[in-house]
Amino acid sequence: MAIVLSGKAVADKIKQDCQQQAAQLRKQGSIPRLQIIRVGERTDDVYYQKSLEKACAATNIDCTVTVLDEQIGQQGLEQQLSQAAQDPAVHGILLFSPLPKGYDLTAAVSLIPTAKDVDCLNPLSSGVIFTGCGEAYPPCTAAAVMEMLKYYDAQLSGRNVTIVGRSLVVGKPLSMLLLAQNATVTIAHSYSENLPAICRRADVVIAAAGRAKMFRGNYFTPGQVAIDVGINDDPDNPGHICGDIDYETAEQIVAAISPVPGGIGSITSAIMCAHVIDACAKSCAAAKKQA
Ligand code: NAP
Repeated sequence: MAIVLSGKAVADKIKQDCQQQAAQLRKQGSIPRLQIIRVGERTDDVYYQKSLEKACAATNIDCTVTVLDEQIGQQGLEQQLSQAAQDPAVHGILLFSPLPKGYDLTAAVSLIPTAKDVDCLNPLSSGVIFTGCGEAYPPCTAAAVMEMLKYYDAQLSGRNVTIVGRSLVVGKPLSMLLLAQNATVTIAHSYSENLPAICRRADVVIAAAGRAKMFRGNYFTPGQVAIDVGINDDPDNPGHICGDIDYETAEQIVAAISPVPGGIGSITSAIMCAHVIDACAKSCAAAKKQA
């Protein structure tokens, strides 16, 4: 039986640190604030918004939500983003995507300054993560994987890590974060041949393909760490979610495994809070320097 890598324990630790730092900032007169901008009423967005509001409330962060009508148009959306970008009381900005048809997401997120880009939406922030030059916040999900590996003391330096998935939100930035820890990184995708063999060769397998229970026993070997980023509708249990890894078969083989739910997904909103607090602390320090 594998060790279960609970995300809750990781998230609780991050939230505890956030609470203390936020209390400290408030004492100094700075109130950490996240500004969420949502266009329309997508169920996923509303659900994610609620979980972020809850995490912010638990960590002493003010969370403001601006809900825009789908008809607001690109100009109206950009106006809101520019306003938040210029507002010194806002430390983190999050625009939910995908946007409704007809909107230019890249143009919109390009208005989020790197210092307030707490989920790495602006391509400029990605550039910083990829070059390692300057400071930017990595996407919360990629950072959540790193926090989980760190919390459970997974060895990365010199180890083979395979990520399945090459999106800009998960696979690509995660590969950079792992490289920075001296891991030997393989990125696989839908064109990769003999994926089970690629995964079996790794010390750490990170599944981020968005395919329910695709990673069955033949993808794993004993001693591996298996991290499941996937959030999918469970085909065997309607109304519930499952990961990319077929948990029942994998956990009998690997040394450690993160569950879904209760794994990476539970850490993501805590990371968002940590990014907002860090952004607030940096803006507070910069203001003091100027004074
Ligand atoms: P995405 O943009 O759809 O990317 C999926 C990636 O997986 C692509 O690179 C794709 O390859 C690859 N892929 C798809 N099917 C594959 C297959 N059969 N074999 C090998 N590779 C395959 O998805 P994403 O946004 O990265 O999200 C991935 C998963 O993570 C989803 O389940 C999503 O819900 C979940 N997620 C979780 C969190 C969290 O907080 N836990 C946050 C974000 C996303 P190609 O590039 O070749 O198409």
